[in-house]
Amino acid sequence: PERLGPEELLEEVELQRCETARDLRMSRETCCRRELMENCLDAGSQHIAITVKGGGLKMLRIEDDGHGIRAADMPILCERFTTSKLRKYEDLTSIGTFGFRGEALASISHVAHVTVTTMTAADSAARVAQYTDGKLTSPVRPCAGTRGTTIVAEDFFYNNPTRRQALSKDSIEHNKVLEVIQRYSLHYPAVSFSCRKAGGAVAELHTPGPGAPGELPSTRDVVSVIYGQGLGRELFPFEFSSAEYKFSFRGLATGPNWTSKSGTFVLFINNRLVECSPLRRAIESVYAPVLPRHQHPWVYLALELDAATLDVNVHPTKNEVQFLNEGQIAESLQEALQTQLHKQGGSRTFAPMP
Ligand code: ADP
Ligand code: MG
Repeated sequence: PERLGPEELLEEVELQRCETARDLRMSRETCCRRELMENCLDAGSQHIAITVKGGGLKMLRIEDDGHGIRAADMPILCERFTTSKLRKYEDLTSIGTFGFRGEALASISHVAHVTVTTMTAADSAARVAQYTDGKLTSPVRPCAGTRGTTIVAEDFFYNNPTRRQALSKDSIEHNKVLEVIQRYSLHYPAVSFSCRKAGGAVAELHTPGPGAPGELPSTRDVVSVIYGQGLGRELFPFEFSSAEYKFSFRGLATGPNWTSKSGTFVLFINNRLVECSPLRRAIESVYAPVLPRHQHPWVYLALELDAATLDVNVHPTKNEVQFLNEGQIAESLQEALQTQLHKQGGSRTFAPMP
């Protein structure tokens, strides 16, 4: 098999990231934010504090209390997949799943100025380093700090004004950042997330995270904190698992008495925030006969799939990202929701499944 050089590899991965992002109906910018958050979670953080300026495009700062980054990794941090993670073409297949790895910081350092401050449990002081285009711009320096990692990305697309202009207004970008954080905080109720505007006195979002030992908040608790008790009270839990098709899901959804014009569908597949139109449609078809016209439910779904059933067509020129048994999963989801909705008294007749 052909061996790609670093530049080609980068291009290939960028291309694939675009395709994946489009399939999941998620912008590249959202992907980046999402991956920075995932890095904090991967590092075992319990507190993640985000500061946003200019819709996250002027500055995005993410501070965590995770395990930190070792000194030896600092120089290669932002060129990760040209070194240890991706060595050969076939490795692209393993990042074709939702778990494609080793590119968030590299990608961001090509479109923004990145500063990383980090300290591990073994360190006596923190270290700080700056990156541009995947490379250190000066030697790593010691500095004051606490255990964990702070990543600051500034001036997004300073080198690509056209792309910068193509993005939405700052306020819209800001809300997208906030929404990604809200969604992660639902899926990780034991982690405390906070988000504030730079210079802002109060946090726009603050979830409790780990409370007293043995008192972990639930996703429903987090819903109440973020969206208010009104929604929290309306939610019913549902779950299902299939040994045959190797999947399981659990979630929370609103009953027949709660409606909203826009509707919300928060989907995690194997702990990654994604979007999926077929599952969204499956949910809509359950609620359509129950809710008034043009009204939608609020649904949180955590789906676990056997990695082997993720059928990902990895070639960059084809844009298919599918998982096997999508039909079965959609059907089980509809059944689980219908059963609960019936119990809730949403007893108008249901339309047959499409
Ligand atoms: P990966 O797919 O490996 O997460 P990234 O580009 O997102 O690739 O990050 C590169 C590496 O930087 C990670 O593998 C991890 O070792 C380190 N890293 C990034 N962010 C953090 C963080 N918040 N805490 C600890 N380590 C981090
Ligand atoms: Mg990552």
